[in-house]
Amino acid sequence: MSKKVVVAAAGAVAAVGVAIGWKASRGRPRSTAEQGSETRKPFLIDDIDEERFLASLREAIRCRTVVFDDGTYDSDAFDALGEMLVERYPRVHAELDRETFNGHSLLYTWVGSDPRLDPIVLMAHQDVVPVEEDTETQWAAPPFAGATLEGRIYGRGSLDCKGPLIAIFEAVEFLLEQGAEPVRTVYIVSGHDEEVGGENGARVIAEELSSRGVSPWFVLDEGGAVADGVLPAVVAPIALVGIAEKGSMSLKLTAHGEGGHSSIPPRGSAIVRLAGAIAALDASPVPARIDALTPLLDALSDHLPGVLGVLAAKPRAAASLLSRVFTRDVQMDALQRTTMVPTIIEGGVKANVVPQAASVTLNVRIIPGDTSQSVIEHVRSVVGEEIDVEVLAGSSTEASGFSSIDSEGWETLTGVIGEVFPDAIVAPYVLTVATDSRFFEGLSDDVYRFSPFVVDAAALRGLHGTDEFIRTGDARRAVTFFSRLIAVAARMGDSP
Ligand SMILES: [Zn+2]
Repeated sequence: MSKKVVVAAAGAVAAVGVAIGWKASRGRPRSTAEQGSETRKPFLIDDIDEERFLASLREAIRCRTVVFDDGTYDSDAFDALGEMLVERYPRVHAELDRETFNGHSLLYTWVGSDPRLDPIVLMAHQDVVPVEEDTETQWAAPPFAGATLEGRIYGRGSLDCKGPLIAIFEAVEFLLEQGAEPVRTVYIVSGHDEEVGGENGARVIAEELSSRGVSPWFVLDEGGAVADGVLPAVVAPIALVGIAEKGSMSLKLTAHGEGGHSSIPPRGSAIVRLAGAIAALDASPVPARIDALTPLLDALSDHLPGVLGVLAAKPRAAASLLSRVFTRDVQMDALQRTTMVPTIIEGGVKANVVPQAASVTLNVRIIPGDTSQSVIEHVRSVVGEEIDVEVLAGSSTEASGFSSIDSEGWETLTGVIGEVFPDAIVAPYVLTVATDSRFFEGLSDDVYRFSPFVVDAAALRGLHGTDEFIRTGDARRAVTFFSRLIAVAARMGDSP
């Protein structure tokens, strides 16, 4: 998960709220008459060993499972994390089958008693992004020490994604301690290369499960979270659940032109043509798809006052008007259309030589409904035939489809979110970035992206940045969430 995931959604909410005059209310969707200021108590399991969760997370952070952009990593760090899980969660490792893929990616199987029921899949990756050079000293606590400071455990990966990973193990260990037995099979999938695309981890495991004929009832990975007070205008926490994610692609556009000495310059040189193409694309974005925003608007419409509430409740009828409003906000706009932005520009080698070619790399994020091909056609139609358009090798991933918000899987997931985060509005949305869960697209109709942690503005800054942390006070809630979700989804009878 990257910072953009939650930022974009928070931005969406903020744009709606700030632009039209947000009137915050706490609680799940209610009519205006029912709205009050009471805060409901979350359901928490008292017997959960919060200290063990925190100690395990600290130890996990100390394993430097950093994966670099070129795909390299320290194998020993992943071995240490794997061994740590074995040592700290003996019941998990006695009762569940554990398989390893490509050295470090893990698949655990907790076999249910009824093989006719489709299994659930819980996902959380082990790898973390590097800490940017020369920024280690700016952290409140060192990024790989697992230190606790003023109610926060600091560390690279504490939120993305070792917090969720340890919470899942803690939940299964807890359920085993209680003697719980699943009726429905439970899989845990933990990749080791999510931050560099997941090709050797989650993709391989998804293919393996597919070959075994596994068709999950639902899949839950990272992605959304409980966004709370990210902007002062928004008081209500919003449990953002990803029901789809954007695809991505990098395009290289090249312009050609007459070269020569700069003292007698040709007209319409390669650089001038390229500049024209970039400006034309900036002025002609890919058309918006308000459909991608419809589920989020539906969820928030009860909480929006006046005209916007009415419009948001009928997003299809009001599509063009809403779309124009959202176009003014970059974060909101990213949720309604395929975006593209120039990131690398090349051309020319010497101040007095006119280059014969110039090129730009465009990074594209494809909204569900568009495809890499439809985007390339749009680009070609805008820049014309004189500009070469090429897809950079290996850069293209299609957008996911939409998972259901009308299924038993969705009801089960959001029901448990409602128990543990009773004041949150559950809001489905489209992630602007990719997660490992996309490899399960073909296996299950219901692929969801949500982590049971409260993310505020400070927590957001830490994702992939300086001072990543989770609050120690959130530990019991996170473990309760996974315990309840597994117990309910796997039909564990009288279990917690
Ligand atoms: Zn992540």
